[in-house]
Amino acid sequence: MSVVTRFAPSPTGYLHIGGLRTALFNYLYAKNKGGKFLLRIEDTDLQRNSQEATEAILKAFQWCEMSHDGEVVYQSQRFDLYKQYIQQLLDEGKAYYCYMSKEELDALREEQRANKLPPRYDNRYRDFKGTPPSGIEPVVRIKTPLEGVIAFEDGVKGRIEIAAKEVDDFIIARSDGSPTYNFVVAIDDALMGVTDVIRGDDHTTNTPKQIVVYEALGFKIPKFFHVPMILNPEGKKLSKRDGATDVMEYKAMGYLHEALLNFLVRLGWSYGDQEIFSMQEMIKLFSPNDLNKSASCYNQSKLDWLNNHYIRQMDNQALKAMLVDFGCKIELCSEKLEVLFEALKERNYTLVAFAKGVQEVLQTPSNYDEKMFSRLNPQVLLNVETFIKSLDSHLGVSEIEARSKAFMHEHNLKAGEFLQPLRLAILGKGGGIGMAEAIFAVGVEECLRRVNFLKKSFQS
Ligand code: GLU
Repeated sequence: MSVVTRFAPSPTGYLHIGGLRTALFNYLYAKNKGGKFLLRIEDTDLQRNSQEATEAILKAFQWCEMSHDGEVVYQSQRFDLYKQYIQQLLDEGKAYYCYMSKEELDALREEQRANKLPPRYDNRYRDFKGTPPSGIEPVVRIKTPLEGVIAFEDGVKGRIEIAAKEVDDFIIARSDGSPTYNFVVAIDDALMGVTDVIRGDDHTTNTPKQIVVYEALGFKIPKFFHVPMILNPEGKKLSKRDGATDVMEYKAMGYLHEALLNFLVRLGWSYGDQEIFSMQEMIKLFSPNDLNKSASCYNQSKLDWLNNHYIRQMDNQALKAMLVDFGCKIELCSEKLEVLFEALKERNYTLVAFAKGVQEVLQTPSNYDEKMFSRLNPQVLLNVETFIKSLDSHLGVSEIEARSKAFMHEHNLKAGEFLQPLRLAILGKGGGIGMAEAIFAVGVEECLRRVNFLKKSFQS
């Protein structure tokens, strides 16, 4: 039987990286097996769900180039279907109307609490044959087994067992007729032919209830993999404070989706000590059977490192096109672009930083590093000017480099004495790419203009 997986987000907000990781695992497994990866939007909670959130999820999928098979399934469009199954269970005596009022339920809970018993429904309408009380819109409850265990083999956690008596006859339809969460998830997974459910382990406790539904309706139970959470470096639940959690915020911060997916696949899964995985490799190597039992830890510097790896791998023209989104329009011949980009690739982890690096080189500095500026004197400025004037525009990077060494030698200058003021003139500050690369990318003529500008600022 071919593998069918799914991602089933509730559209209550943006797609967070934990959700994207779940989606990725499902996607990879389906692709690995030549199966199908389906997308279902769990939008039954009309109060909390929004169209905007659904669109945000679809947008994040698009950005990550993770395509799903078939049409998106919306639970909100399937209420009639769920009603049929509720009716079926009622007709078969596997579910029943419960007329307990909210006050009665509260009183029962209170009594249980007073007796130090866990709060649970007492099955009072399970076999009710009398006349129902008037004025109460009943809920529908499903009959859960009274004894034995409800068990399943979790692909990550191993065998999970719960005593059947721990599971209440839970509500499958509210008094307004609307179906409840665990009921519709089980029906949809069954009808969509889902064979493998990979999801966050916050859902582990829902699974026994869903198994009750599968069994009541005679559906085949899928295989479950409950994946431990992503924790922050302090071992706590990941929150906004630990970095972005919205997938699209990573895009805005200049991360490449290849890096983000590579980062996420390693949170909870490994293949030896390999860190870099192309999408093809992930598809080839991933198996949910290798998922870790323990929680994984978010590591920002690892993500930065991976992002830098993928930036380095990018074709420079493609990179140039991407930088437009980060406010960077570059007009450079391809030779200069190559030099500038290769130099910037060495040291920039995000596209935002990369774009900033480009601007720093290509824009005439509008202000200067104060400390460096205060160290200037007429002689060092003259050195810088003489050097730039000695260059001509056809020189390549290595020739500029060689000329600069020769110049320092000839004038008996230490590197700092000469290169720091030069850097100040060209870039306005310390740090950044190599001087020879910067001069090559900026062009000798513009460099001279910048030197004159510094001179004027110094004199005024
Ligand atoms: N809709 C659920 C959520 O967003 C996921 C349900 C499932 O994967 O079974 O957490």
